[in-house]
Amino acid sequence: AQATPQTGKRVLLAKPRGYCAGVDRAVQTVEEALTLYGAPIYVRKQIVHNKHVVRTLEAKGAIFVEENEEVPEGATVIFSAHGVAPEVHEQARARSLKAIDATCPLVTKVHHEAKRFAAEDYDILLIGHEGHEEVIGTTGEAPAHIQLVDGPEDADKVTVRDPEKVVWLSQTTLSVDETMETVARLKKRLPMLQSPPSDDICYATSNRQQVVKEIAPQCDVVIVVGSRNSSNSVRLVEVALDAGAGTGHLVDFASEIDDAWLAGAGTVGLTSGASVPDELVQEVLAHLAARGFTDVEEVVTATERLTFSLPQELKRDMRTAA
Ligand code: SF4
Repeated sequence: AQATPQTGKRVLLAKPRGYCAGVDRAVQTVEEALTLYGAPIYVRKQIVHNKHVVRTLEAKGAIFVEENEEVPEGATVIFSAHGVAPEVHEQARARSLKAIDATCPLVTKVHHEAKRFAAEDYDILLIGHEGHEEVIGTTGEAPAHIQLVDGPEDADKVTVRDPEKVVWLSQTTLSVDETMETVARLKKRLPMLQSPPSDDICYATSNRQQVVKEIAPQCDVVIVVGSRNSSNSVRLVEVALDAGAGTGHLVDFASEIDDAWLAGAGTVGLTSGASVPDELVQEVLAHLAARGFTDVEEVVTATERLTFSLPQELKRDMRTAA
């Protein structure tokens, strides 16, 4: 006879979580390029900020480099989802590289905004994290016009030429709430500060934060699957803690979960960053189930249907080869 199932401890599984349209497109770009041109394919920087994805693509023949100069002349190079400064395209041309640009179209949108406001001679306050690849790429569009504002404390350091001609733009993967706090601090000093024509923080970032805010108050522990260098994943842990989760942890793999985190916990929240394949979340679910967390409830706060087509330069070659 079958045993009566016991009510297990609970997992609140966030949705939307994991892959966004930009990451999906970037990963597919590398896979299609490997099929079309054959290995090796060079990729400048991590295509997306996820250890597992990078290792998997390496195993298929992708070679990750930091700069174009590491790519042999004439070879194929893919630029990552985070975007690049115009000079990176120029360097590629100078080395006769075949460049395929996997920059997420929502990052490209911010580049266009930066170029447009710079052309109109605005001072641009770019809210973002110093040293992040996306910030370096966007700043490269108009270095003379852009100042980085890395969080609310930085707002007081800003100096502008004309307080009536200043706009803020942002990195796509920031905390929505912290960014609004930074903007409020900036507006105290610069009441005429203009906002971006449309949200720069992307739909995937805000949706993943929204659902985490919803589940966090009920969770003793929130586990976010994602890599340390993934901005949106790190933000999810912060958002969970701000919204009332008991504790919050970022892990690349289920094996990194410490049993001590779960001791005494009744409800665990689970989500993943925009660069994380869902198989890693499924592994965490199995890991939790083995420790008594068998009652899984998916909490859904939005439905995402956005997809992006592959880069034109790749599609053209795919058509020719067909
Ligand atoms: Fe594009 Fe947003 Fe995904 Fe970044 S997180 S790749 S901006 S959709």
